[in-house]
Amino acid sequence: MNISELLARNARKFPDKEAIIEGEVALSYREVDQNVNRLASSLARLGIRQGDKVALYMPNTKEFAYAYFAVLRLGAIVVPVNARLTAAEVQYILGHSEAKAVIAHDWIYKELEPLVGHVDVIWIKTGEAQDGWRSLSELIANGTAETIVCPLKEDDEATILYTSGTTGKPKGVLFTYRNILAVANMMAFETKMNKDSRLLHIMPLSHSAPLHLFFIGGMYVGATHVLSPSFSPEALLSLVEKHKITHFFGAPVAYLLTAKHPRLYEHDLSSVQYWTYGGAPLSSNEVQFIAKQFRTDRLMCLYGLTEAGPNGVYLAPEEHATKAGSVGKHAALHCEVKIVDEYGNEVPVGEVGEVVLAGEGTMKGYYKDEEKTAEALKNGWLYTGDLARRDEDGYIWIVDRKKDMIISGGVNVYPKEIEDVLRTHPAVVDVAVVGVPHPEWGETVKAFVVTAQPIENLAEECKRFLEGKVADYKIPRLYEEIRELPRNTTGKVLKQVLRGMSNETIA
Ligand code: ATP
Repeated sequence: MNISELLARNARKFPDKEAIIEGEVALSYREVDQNVNRLASSLARLGIRQGDKVALYMPNTKEFAYAYFAVLRLGAIVVPVNARLTAAEVQYILGHSEAKAVIAHDWIYKELEPLVGHVDVIWIKTGEAQDGWRSLSELIANGTAETIVCPLKEDDEATILYTSGTTGKPKGVLFTYRNILAVANMMAFETKMNKDSRLLHIMPLSHSAPLHLFFIGGMYVGATHVLSPSFSPEALLSLVEKHKITHFFGAPVAYLLTAKHPRLYEHDLSSVQYWTYGGAPLSSNEVQFIAKQFRTDRLMCLYGLTEAGPNGVYLAPEEHATKAGSVGKHAALHCEVKIVDEYGNEVPVGEVGEVVLAGEGTMKGYYKDEEKTAEALKNGWLYTGDLARRDEDGYIWIVDRKKDMIISGGVNVYPKEIEDVLRTHPAVVDVAVVGVPHPEWGETVKAFVVTAQPIENLAEECKRFLEGKVADYKIPRLYEEIRELPRNTTGKVLKQVLRGMSNETIA
C-alpha cells in the first residue's frame, strides 16, 4: 500500500475529523487529502515522476504534511531534511540524494538562497513565489482534485532519511513502503493508538521516530495530529494541555528541560496515555526525576535507531517502577533482538555484546553505499553499534555506543557509566566523557563538565566524587570545564567534536 493511501482512506472514512492542527488552523482529513491531490497533480506537471527524490526543508507544519503525502502519491521518494541544517549541509544531502526538487518553508527558505542558481533542482517554497522559487500555495491552487493512484509495490523505495551524523558524515538511510508501514503499525499497536488519539509532534518530522512511528503511526488509525514547528518546554506543556494530547514522543533532552521548567506544575497533563522517549540514553535517576516532575506513571522508553525504522525494544510504563534506565526486554511488534559477540553468537546473561535487530522495519540499505550497508546488515540482522548487557530478568541495559567505548591500557571503559555517576553530583549540569590519545595506554579518559557555578578544583572534586562509585581505572584523569556541550539538532552530544577539542599534553 502507498503510505499516502492511509491519508486517502481516512479522508473517505472520516472526512470531517480533525486531521491536522497547526496554531489556530484545524484541517479535516478531507481538506488535507484534497490539498495533497492538488499538489501532487501540480508536481506531476512539473515533471516529478516515480522514483524521483524530493527534499523537504520544513519544520512541522501543515505544508510539510501536504508535501510529504503529495510526493509519495506520485511514487516519488521523500528526502526529509532537518529544518535547522545550514545551506552547506543541505547541499550535501541534495547532491548525495540527487534530489530533483526542494520544497522549503517560507520561514527558512532564505538559508538556501545561496544555493539557488547553483544547484540544479526545482525550487519550491510555501508562501509567495520569488526569484527562482515557485509557490507551493499556487501549485495547490492550480492543481486538480482527483486522486492520483501510482501503482506501487511494498518493496518500492519511499524515503531516504539522513542520519544526524553524530558518528560521521550523514548517511542516507533508504526505506521501502514495507519498512515504514511496519514500524508505523508497530507504534500504533504498542501504544494503543486509535482514531480518538491526539498526538503532539514537537520533535522534527525529518527524523525517523517522529515521522515513521508517530506521524505515520497516527495516520494508520486516523488520529488527530497537532504540529508544533519548534520545541520549547512552554510550548510542549501548553499544547499538551490545550489539545488534550494522548500520545507524545520526545528526545530525552526535551523531557529533561521540561522537567526543570518552573511552571510545569501549573499545567494539567492528565490526558497523556503514553509519554514516550528515546533516541538517546537516560539514566535511571533521570527517568525517575522526569516521572516525578511530570507526575506520571505513563513513561515508555523506545530504543532503536534510524536504520531500524526505528524499531527495536521498549520498556513499557508498568516496567518503569523496577527497571527505569533499561531499554526493556521485549522486542517490539515486527522486530527481534539479540545481544551477540564478535562471531554473532548470543552472549550469556550479564556479558556485554552488540545489540542486533531484525524485522520488517529495517532499512533497505544506505543509499549509494554498499560497503557500509554490508557492514551494518549481516545475515538478516542489523548491527546497531550499541553495546549492551541483559540482566537476570532479561532486561537490556545499553552500556554505550561501540564507537564511543574507550580502550585504556587494553581495558574497556564505557563513558556512559561515568557520565551517569557524575551527573548525580549536585553542581554538575551536564557531562560527556571521551577517550583521548595517550602515548602509553592508547587512550585515556577525559571528562568535559558543565557546572552550575565554577567548581574550585574541578578535577579533584570529580575524582573524589567518583571514588568508590566506579573502578579506579575508569576515573577520568583529565577534566575540562565547558560552558555547553556541542550537540546536534536532535540534542545528541557530538563526541567527535569534543575529541577534536582535546589537545593538551598528557603526562
Ligand atoms: P549517526 O548514526 O550518524 O551517529 P544518530 O546518532 O543521530 O546518527 P540515530 O539513529 O538517531 O542516529 O540514533 C540511534 C542511537 O541512539 C542508537 O544506536 C543508540 O545509541 C541511541 N539510542 C536510541 N534510543 C535509545 C534509548 N532508548 N536508550 C539509549 N540509547 C538510545
